[in-house]
Amino acid sequence: MKRRTFLSSAGTVAGLGLLASSTPLPLSAFARTNGLFTPIRRGVGRFEARGGTIGWLINDDAVVAVDSQFPESAAECRDGLMERSDRTVDLLINSHHHGDHTAGNGVLGADADQIVAHDNVPMLQRMQAERRGTLDDQTFANETFAESWSKDVGDETIRLHHYGPAHTAGDAIIHFEHADVVHMGDLVFHYRHAYIDLGAGADTANWMVTLERAHDLFTDNTVFIFGHANPVNGILGRREDLLVMRDYLGALRDAVEAGIDAGMSREEVAAKGLEGFDAHMIGGNPDGIAGNIAAVHEEMTSVQE
Ligand SMILES: [Zn+2]
Repeated sequence: MKRRTFLSSAGTVAGLGLLASSTPLPLSAFARTNGLFTPIRRGVGRFEARGGTIGWLINDDAVVAVDSQFPESAAECRDGLMERSDRTVDLLINSHHHGDHTAGNGVLGADADQIVAHDNVPMLQRMQAERRGTLDDQTFANETFAESWSKDVGDETIRLHHYGPAHTAGDAIIHFEHADVVHMGDLVFHYRHAYIDLGAGADTANWMVTLERAHDLFTDNTVFIFGHANPVNGILGRREDLLVMRDYLGALRDAVEAGIDAGMSREEVAAKGLEGFDAHMIGGNPDGIAGNIAAVHEEMTSVQE
């Protein structure tokens, strides 16, 4: 009887495993919004208000947040997390330094033991704040990492990866391993024009490599949270979406390279647009395709000098 019970439960577990790996749940299964807070899986969820998407984890032992948007929305996020957990954020992770991901650090991370980010983030955040005259408003990471970092948080393990300069020189990929949910920060602008911040060390060639490495590291079961997306496609995705972003960057680079070879100015290249990426035009950044072309043109011509 005992053996029979074991076999049937083992069969159930194996069956579930097969189901999870061969037929992942459709993204719509994770998209049910509860106000600004949307649970995704195993205590991990997302919060959208203003700026880069916040990721969160609530379990019996800790509350974790990834990114902090702006002070006002960070306060909303903090209050909502406290309603759901009776505690404030223990661990805050910054996916990178940009203001719409770190300006709320002082609010969301006020009680955090650790604020963790890539080694380059405090320096980049400081430079950005000095330019904007907002140095006094900054709260910086108090723990940084070079290539990887991990921490057990209750029954979850969080692992960070950095694969070199991409969206900035300080991007982190954040994996909630047991939930198998990944926060990509701004490494993916989901069907949307990117922000290519050359001043912060953006590198579109290595950005493409980074997306391929992440694609290979994760599986079809992994659910991804993206920093920004157009309103139709939304901020959740699957690993094939990482390759859509790679191909968008590749098309930008190809268009600029062809334009340079043909003796065209960056304005002329931008005027031609980018074929095959119509969805990226929905609710894109204000500077849209022209800004992306100009940035890649500057990147590629300054490399050639
Ligand atoms: Zn960014």
